[in-house]
Amino acid sequence: MKYDVIVIGSGPGGYVSAIRAAQLGMKTAIIEKENLGGVCLNWGCIPTKALLKSAEVMNYANHASAYGITIGEASPDFPAIIKRSRDVAGAMSKGVDFLMRKNNIQVIYGTAKVLPGKKVYVTFKDGLDGTFEADHILIATGARARELPFLPVDGEKIIGYRQALTLEKQPRSMIIVGSGAIGVEMAHFYNSIGTKVTIVEYLPRLVPTEDAEVSKQLERVFKKAKIKVLTATEVTGADTSGEGVKIFYKNKKGEDALQADVVLSAVGIRANIENLGLEETGIATENGKIKVDEFYRTNIEGYYAIGDVIDTPALAHVASAEGITCIEHIKGLDVEPVDYDNIPSNIYTSPEIASVGFTEEEAKEKGYDVLVGKFPFTASGKAKAAGKPEGFVKIIIDKKYDEILGAHMIGANVTEMIAEIVAARKAEATGYTLLKSVHPHPTMSEAIMEAVADAYGEAIHI
Ligand SMILES: Cc1cc2nc3c(=O)[nH]c(=O)nc-3n(C[C@H](O)[C@H](O)[C@H](O)COP(=O)(O)OP(=O)(O)OC[C@H]3O[C@@H](n4cnc5c(N)ncnc54)[C@H](O)[C@@H]3O)c2cc1C
Repeated sequence: MKYDVIVIGSGPGGYVSAIRAAQLGMKTAIIEKENLGGVCLNWGCIPTKALLKSAEVMNYANHASAYGITIGEASPDFPAIIKRSRDVAGAMSKGVDFLMRKNNIQVIYGTAKVLPGKKVYVTFKDGLDGTFEADHILIATGARARELPFLPVDGEKIIGYRQALTLEKQPRSMIIVGSGAIGVEMAHFYNSIGTKVTIVEYLPRLVPTEDAEVSKQLERVFKKAKIKVLTATEVTGADTSGEGVKIFYKNKKGEDALQADVVLSAVGIRANIENLGLEETGIATENGKIKVDEFYRTNIEGYYAIGDVIDTPALAHVASAEGITCIEHIKGLDVEPVDYDNIPSNIYTSPEIASVGFTEEEAKEKGYDVLVGKFPFTASGKAKAAGKPEGFVKIIIDKKYDEILGAHMIGANVTEMIAEIVAARKAEATGYTLLKSVHPHPTMSEAIMEAVADAYGEAIHI
């Protein structure tokens, strides 16, 4: 069977590409070996946010008296929380199925492998096989959890994110190795429902890719919430022979061990490039990822790759933006490459974290003369009324041209607020534009305007 476009993998990279291709009049098929929606809808973005919503409800219930509401002590129904999360993921996956039908996209369930001559070989779910042809083959096979050699995931005592989302019984204690987005979101969720959580991070601070002040604030909040935090600590091994699991580690204080019911390994991802026919087809890889140009063309004409399988930020919105760009370029539209300097990054802990652009350190390293403005949510009427005064907005502005170099936020709802900065940067707006854009009152977003004002020494409320 011949198509204009065949997409392999139906995550936010793949299914969005397929829809855009169909919109542009291309005969499109998508091949998926598991569930429509990929990691994001089934195992990542969506089910984690459902769990985190349960954590939020739990925290509100436990602090209801602070809002003048009397209710009994809240307790988690762990299987019901997990079921809700799985139901939300399942509904989202069905939504993708609907979108595929709406757009006349052929969905093929099976495991795909590319072949030379613009062909795709598929082993169907029932064991039969078939070969398909297309003018353009887009590989969007995503990634899976990376494993440390001395921390092999057994699915019971040492688990990955998939098991953490589907445990049958709530662990009494959990050690989380790695404090990136997945590690800290899981730490917040499990701690909120009463699991005793310890985070072990190899680098000197939590969420090490975020601004240092954001890391510091998160560490303070986590410690206050009784999450044990061990930074600059290297895990050296694990022993699963006894009850629970023992983790060995070393840091500047020396060597020691920790014990818990389970260990969650959250140390990053590995691209799904194996058994894909890349070698047979001659498609080049580099550092375990498929090599592409700015329009996602591989070194072999007619083959493309996007999303977590290439070397760009492993985020759903990045995968989708890459897919749309790739397809529009295939169609011959006049399309700009994705601007990787303007990608927002969110972490859905409580408080939430959001950032875009350079951190203060990075901006200085790049030689910018910077103005830094900061507005704490303790001074925000909306944050106070919501009972969420933790956190701040920090903005970094180039002194010379007033360019908005970066924004770093920690606080309630900041994952929604960051889009304002992304849009402003895309429109090449300046700090002055943000300052003079009248923000509604009372909102958390006023903190952006005030942070800019602080950079200019004009803040009103601090
Ligand atoms: C716990 C967790 C939380 C996350 N939270 C967020 C978040 O809040 N925000 C955010 O932006 N990102 C988040 N991410 C990251 C996000 O999920 C990924 O960046 C995104 O899913 C990547 O999309 P993709 O289309 O490249 O690949 P994927 O979503 O990984 O989809 C790839 C698909 O390809 C299929 N596939 C693989 N090989 C084959 C084959 N040979 N044949 C057929 N099908 C194949 C897979 O089954 C899969 O369905 C999270 C990730 C995790 C693990």
